[in-house]
Amino acid sequence: MEIKRFIFRYTPTNRYSITALVASVFSYKKDIELIEVRNVNDILNFETKGTVVLFSFMSFDLETVKKEASFLKDKGYVLIAGGPHVSALPYQVLNLGFDYVFTGDGEENIRKFIDGIFPENKIYDGTTNRVNLSNYPPFCPEKNLYMPIEISRGCPFSCGYCQTPRLAGKIVRHRPLEQIIEYSKIGVKNGRKIARFISPNSFSYGSKNGVTPEPKIIDELLFGLKKIGVKEIYFGTFPSDVRPESITEEMLLTIKKYVNNKYIVVGAQSGSERILKIIRRGHSLEQIENALYLLKKHGFIPRVDFIFGFPFETDEDIEKTFNFIEKIVKKYNAKVHAHTFMPLPGTPLANAGPGKLTEKHYKFLGLLTAKGYLDGYWLNQEKLARRVANVNSSNTI
Ligand code: SF4
Repeated sequence: MEIKRFIFRYTPTNRYSITALVASVFSYKKDIELIEVRNVNDILNFETKGTVVLFSFMSFDLETVKKEASFLKDKGYVLIAGGPHVSALPYQVLNLGFDYVFTGDGEENIRKFIDGIFPENKIYDGTTNRVNLSNYPPFCPEKNLYMPIEISRGCPFSCGYCQTPRLAGKIVRHRPLEQIIEYSKIGVKNGRKIARFISPNSFSYGSKNGVTPEPKIIDELLFGLKKIGVKEIYFGTFPSDVRPESITEEMLLTIKKYVNNKYIVVGAQSGSERILKIIRRGHSLEQIENALYLLKKHGFIPRVDFIFGFPFETDEDIEKTFNFIEKIVKKYNAKVHAHTFMPLPGTPLANAGPGKLTEKHYKFLGLLTAKGYLDGYWLNQEKLARRVANVNSSNTI
């Protein structure tokens, strides 16, 4: 099939994936039309011949994707899909009527698809052969598509609730500093003078193991960005959060010279050592406290991620987490970013059941919200958690 155009089905959660793919396709074949649609009906404005519709989606969007895929397939469109859900359950997505699916990294495989190289099982494997980030642009200035620069991909940890190691691999790969500067320069030239980053643990940029900070490399990166005219730098804030054990005195002294953010987002997830072990966080409460102590000492406000409602949490675990939060709010001026546990497909906790909040949670989290110490989508995520649990139970491999 000669591909004339890719139509990307935009959703609020797939902006970064779409941008990376558009950048890869455009830098490979400039004559393919690249279109983004926000309403599925808009796709009907394009002839089916030569059109490929691309979805990238999260597990809680599965029901919507199922309906849209069936609608578009009936009209005769070629459909492909990638993203976190596909990487976890590729056969399930093929069974929805998709022609091909892409697991893991998509940048190289989308080019193979363009070249007519089709895998027999219809699954492009981007998990076994990982891409080298330096071979692909981080965004597409020619299409006026910018996003935070993905400085690292992959995570060596195995947190039980997280799809990242499955989607992005367990070996951390860093985008070369020179390439980050080169693309930031293009951004600055086009008026984009604010730098943000994507990383599973931004303080580990340049490290071999994805956790031990390399302050010299980070200094070089941030200095380089300032030198080319970047006016504001946000580092260690979403979507470039930080693991507690990567927060060191030297790192904070380094970033302080350059960054505009007052907040640093730290993943803690629980105040119970027992839960930290079950969810395989790989750090202790003491390490969290040490990180918060250092952040306060250097004038940063810790914004700490917690996950509530693990189905295996006991009353004692819940109490411990609440006590820990009260302590860090008082002692380190921490703010809490709250999530409800979702049993995402492909993760070690996929079959744990949906996160459930108790009356105690509503009361405690509600009170912290009212006092201005807590935010997050925890209420909505409780509904999404049920949806995700249904996806797991209806898995049709
Ligand atoms: S939660 Fe963070 S540290 Fe844990 S596996 Fe996911 S990306 Fe890695």
